[in-house]
Amino acid sequence: MASKLTCRFPHRHNKDGSHDSICISCYATVASVRNEAELAQYEQDHVCNMAFLNYSFQSCPAPNDHPAHETG
Ligand SMILES: [Zn+2]
Repeated sequence: MASKLTCRFPHRHNKDGSHDSICISCYATVASVRNEAELAQYEQDHVCNMAFLNYSFQSCPAPNDHPAHETG
């Protein structure tokens, strides 16, 4: 299977005239440029930080000391 970009990059247009590209897969700001056309190159070069994503998923603590409710 050929490698294909799975990230999508919505662009955010700032009031100062700059344009941000956001990766919705890893929530990284890919780039912030004055010329929106430049974003395409940054998006091509972008690699999602899966290590960060894994870390985020593991950040949910497991309640080992869950107090048991007294029953009866
Ligand atoms: Zn990404």
